[in-house]
Amino acid sequence: MRFSALKILAQGLRGNTGWAPHWRDPEPKDQYDIVIIGGGGHGLSTAYHLAREHGLRNIAVLEKGYIGGGNVGRNTTIVRANYFLPGNSEFYSHSLKLWEGLEQELNYNVMMSQRGVINLFHSDGQRDAFVRRGNAMINQGDDAVLLDRDGVRKLVPYLDFDNGRFPIYGGLLHPRGGTARHDAVAWGFARGADQRGVEILQNCEVTGIDVEGGVVRGVQTSRGAIRAKKVAIVVAGRSSQVAAMAGMRLPVESHVLQAFVTEGLKPVIDHVISFGMGHFYISQSDKGGLVFGGDIDMYASYAARGNLPIVEHVMQAGMTLMPMIGKAKVLRSWGGIMDMTPDGSPFIDKTDIDGLFVNCGWNYGGFKAVPASGHCFAHLIATGRHHGAAAKFRLDRMKTGVGIMDEEGTGAQHNLH
Ligand SMILES: Cc1cc2nc3c(=O)[nH]c(=O)nc-3n(C[C@H](O)[C@H](O)[C@H](O)COP(=O)(O)OP(=O)(O)OC[C@H]3O[C@@H](n4cnc5c(N)ncnc54)[C@H](O)[C@@H]3O)c2cc1C
Repeated sequence: MRFSALKILAQGLRGNTGWAPHWRDPEPKDQYDIVIIGGGGHGLSTAYHLAREHGLRNIAVLEKGYIGGGNVGRNTTIVRANYFLPGNSEFYSHSLKLWEGLEQELNYNVMMSQRGVINLFHSDGQRDAFVRRGNAMINQGDDAVLLDRDGVRKLVPYLDFDNGRFPIYGGLLHPRGGTARHDAVAWGFARGADQRGVEILQNCEVTGIDVEGGVVRGVQTSRGAIRAKKVAIVVAGRSSQVAAMAGMRLPVESHVLQAFVTEGLKPVIDHVISFGMGHFYISQSDKGGLVFGGDIDMYASYAARGNLPIVEHVMQAGMTLMPMIGKAKVLRSWGGIMDMTPDGSPFIDKTDIDGLFVNCGWNYGGFKAVPASGHCFAHLIATGRHHGAAAKFRLDRMKTGVGIMDEEGTGAQHNLH
């Protein structure tokens, strides 16, 4: 079923009784050509692109819970291409271009909103760093505008510009950055993959990976054994655990990241804004809630819920930057399990096991990567060759030290990226 304004009107007149489910609910088959473990944004995008770009059909996505229940439905929805380092820069640029055509491509309203991302700076040194970043973005073909203090004030007058500790010196505006509705992205890719023959199997947990003589043969699941010629691990925060099923130890640690939303308010924040002196970022959803977050909880965990010191830390940063938000009531908070790498950059690679592929290490920036990650991973799985835009996301950079992409410059500590 294709969505159109006419169809919405017709369905409205008929009491919305004629909509079909967005994807089927098939029984698992004994065998597929490709099994994708993980029905998050990256797994679904991979399945979609395998079918769309490479004409492959005999594919299953195995999801232990439900579609949209993982980080893809838990993030703060920010989409941007403002990376500095070669490797990351071309990849996220590629992703933003795919985002810009995604709704037409999927025939699905993912509520893409290029409202602009403003990264604030609060010192001369930080200004220099943002000038360099802005130049890298422009060299990559993306957009960046350096704003002085008055330029920021014109756009977002409600910030505390003269805060005694963290006065605002200016900001780097990335006009094409913005937000998209997170779970709609998962639903759109799921629907698009299903339409092209991919089978999406929910409530199907992978419990083992079968390897014989260095070759992957299939997986064990809560719904029985499934044979496969190729298996792709795309499970974000569970990457280390699932890779361990194939005897691998990944350079990934799992940490919780929390997010918060307030009651619905009239439109007040019409950009994505990030504080430069603490980890705090905020935007306003189309329903009116202020959506914001900060640092990860600083210990490794598989619990999708966070601790109170980080709640306090995030609230303090928010109040420092824009004291007006103190009047809003926080409605909900939640957590997601992040796959943190030692350099803060991801992996899209083959493994030493023939036919077994891995896509992980998105830290807390993997939502914006969803279109390009699936596109590039599908290319690798189908052709055996790395896609140019993701050519630097190799596992062996952790063995050799060559090609490390430490965007934050914080060193080899997972929780600092
Ligand atoms: C609070 C928060 C805020 C964030 N904000 C942003 C942001 O603003 N911008 C941005 O770009 N990124 C953001 N991120 C990061 C982004 O959401 C993640 O990097 C990205 O969603 C991870 O990829 P995914 O969508 O494939 O993960 P997931 O949706 O977690 O998908 C992985 C799936 O694998 C499944 N799975 C795990 N183990 C198994 C198994 N054994 N068998 C079968 N299935 C299994 C899980 O159930 C899950 O559904 C944020 C994350 C969080 C938690």
